[in-house]
Amino acid sequence: MLEKVSTILRMADECNTAVISFICMDYNMAYSVIATAEKTNTPVLVMLLPEHYEKNNTMNVGGFAAMVKELAESVKVPVGLHLDHSYDYESVIRSIKKGFSSVMIDASAYGLEENIALTRKVTETAHILGADVEAEIGHVGLAQDCDGDKSDYYTKADAAERFCRETEVDSLTIAIGNAHGVYVETPHLDIARLEEINAATDVPLVLHGGSGIPHEQLEIAFRKGINKFNVGTEFLGVYYDAVAEYVHNTEGDGRPLKMLEVPMFVQERLCGYLEEKLKLSRF
Ligand SMILES: [Zn+2]
Repeated sequence: MLEKVSTILRMADECNTAVISFICMDYNMAYSVIATAEKTNTPVLVMLLPEHYEKNNTMNVGGFAAMVKELAESVKVPVGLHLDHSYDYESVIRSIKKGFSSVMIDASAYGLEENIALTRKVTETAHILGADVEAEIGHVGLAQDCDGDKSDYYTKADAAERFCRETEVDSLTIAIGNAHGVYVETPHLDIARLEEINAATDVPLVLHGGSGIPHEQLEIAFRKGINKFNVGTEFLGVYYDAVAEYVHNTEGDGRPLKMLEVPMFVQERLCGYLEEKLKLSRF
């Protein structure tokens, strides 16, 4: 069933775990996430990264929201719909009006004062419209740029406390050694910093850049306050490999309608990956 993201995050917090939020670009991915969530009875979030339709012409905001809602309403397990990184007030509010009841405003590229001001402007309107807001403090960069110590960008506990108090944000993305994309070397999450931030704030904390963080570190992070965990790159990689495998299997067999077999073939592969991944999430 479709559930508010803030409700699912509260459930995760009560269970000392994190809900996994999967970036999806189309029906195959969203269907597979929701079907596997139902099979394993594990709440999940399905997430659209606006950059994907803006740059790659995947699914638009309204179409994606409608698709996820219909899929979510066909199952019993709680499913949340969330919009990932959005960078300006207008596009966030437009997305809420097109059906997203949970959004992220990412003003982390600005200084703290501007980040607070833009985030607060978004939460004021979003809360009137009944939507939840995630924001980011510190800066989660790209893994490919992380060639050493980037701890200047890590989230500081006192700034996080002030940020939450002044913005009334519903969840907070923090930077503790995580990054987006493919890691050059094995990441080491700063767990002591996570504990400090968790003690200083009272909102669910979010970890981005989940592809490639060792599971032992994730399990500790989930126990210490991370309640939402984003996965994108790894999931897209499994999707690509499944398509490549199907093409390899059927190349040159001359059947004109074999394209129609692709969705169920890849969905089976995606579900296999997701079933393993969802074991991390202990509701
Ligand atoms: Zn992110």
